[in-house]
Amino acid sequence: MDFKKTEEQELLLESLREVVRRYGTEEYIRECDEKGESPRKLNEALHEAGFDMLGVPEEYGGTPCDTLTLMMYHEEFARICSGAYACECTALAMADMIKFGSEKQIQDCVDAINELKTPFCLGFTEPQAGSDSSGISTTFTRKNGKVYINGRKTFISRIDNANYMLCMTKDPSAPKDKAFTTWWVPMNAPGISYKPIPKVGWHMVHSCEVTLDNVELDESDIVGVEGKGFVNVMKNFEIERLVMSATALGEATMAFEDAVVYAGQREQFGRPIGDFQLIQEKLVDMATKIENMRGLVYKSAWMEDNGIPVNTMAAMTKRYCARASFEVVNDAMQIFGGIGYSSDLRISRVWRNNRICGIGGGTEEIMVHIAGRSLVKQYKNFQPL
Ligand SMILES: Cc1cc2nc3c(=O)[nH]c(=O)nc-3n(C[C@H](O)[C@H](O)[C@H](O)COP(=O)(O)OP(=O)(O)OC[C@H]3O[C@@H](n4cnc5c(N)ncnc54)[C@H](O)[C@@H]3O)c2cc1C
Repeated sequence: MDFKKTEEQELLLESLREVVRRYGTEEYIRECDEKGESPRKLNEALHEAGFDMLGVPEEYGGTPCDTLTLMMYHEEFARICSGAYACECTALAMADMIKFGSEKQIQDCVDAINELKTPFCLGFTEPQAGSDSSGISTTFTRKNGKVYINGRKTFISRIDNANYMLCMTKDPSAPKDKAFTTWWVPMNAPGISYKPIPKVGWHMVHSCEVTLDNVELDESDIVGVEGKGFVNVMKNFEIERLVMSATALGEATMAFEDAVVYAGQREQFGRPIGDFQLIQEKLVDMATKIENMRGLVYKSAWMEDNGIPVNTMAAMTKRYCARASFEVVNDAMQIFGGIGYSSDLRISRVWRNNRICGIGGGTEEIMVHIAGRSLVKQYKNFQPL
């Protein structure tokens, strides 16, 4: 096993650090977080340097890379700049659209990226349908050659920075495997209204409640094949889970690094607190969890790059990383004591933001649901030696 980064990966990460050093300073990120604004200056610099097109095929103006490199990028970004979550993974959005969207829809995404906007917001979750996403009730109906969308969505992130929503709808009369269809909904269409949901963290991204009231579309606004929307979006969820895991890993690493430095400096009872075994125990457990997280993220990425199905592994990775990462960040806050709980230090922001990892993109419990069923099935006829 070779754990060494390639020269290209080292160069990529160094140039990312260079951009973040100049445009993603802690002072700036804190200011954006306090104001609830996206870090535009940083996004501009990342765009200029082409990072927002990392993992996107060349024909769409991107820089292709393997999944492992994409994960290293997200890990490093979260480690050096805890505003990482505010800068989304455009490669993921583009991958979906390149696979299922029309040329016009793909071009809409490229145009949005060039305008420093989100390629699209994903309109899946509804007030009554979160984990049970098959319980959505947003519908589409046809009348006089037009399509009409009606329903309510919730927690739709970045809607205020998107030109389009990839909107999941359901035909309640169709069999389950043909019931879900995705639509390309322009955000300026009459009948759409939304308002932000106040949140514990993730202040630089607005997540909104959305109403779609008789929103008129054309037939050409369908994304992919009618009835296949669910399957299409599901494939991307695996990679989204890995991106979230890599981000959780990067945030945990940042929290650990801040805490271990502090433990060497802060003195109590006449000694650095890092001399106390109870603090050392925390640091060792934190470092071990980080190594475990990295092992899972990199192996999952390697599997994806080598064409090995990653569904179960991605669910296990996300569950582990979400939990372990929050434990690490929480322990880091503990090591800082009172000042860790103040908003003077970035650990408090990371602590607020990191909590989402166990909820967004599928909860910890749903990861058990996915991986558990699959493991039992895999070992159904297992014969031990
Ligand atoms: C900040 C943020 C951003 C988001 N952005 C988006 C977005 O852009 N687009 C979008 O479509 N959605 C988005 N979401 C929604 C997110 O995907 C859902 O919140 C998530 O899937 C969980 O759904 P829920 O909130 O309805 O919780 P519920 O499904 O109601 O779950 C509540 C609890 O019950 C547990 N539970 C549910 N079913 C089971 C089961 N079978 N077994 C055991 N436990 C179970 C859950 O794990 C959870 O602990 C976002 C959410 C947040 C918080």
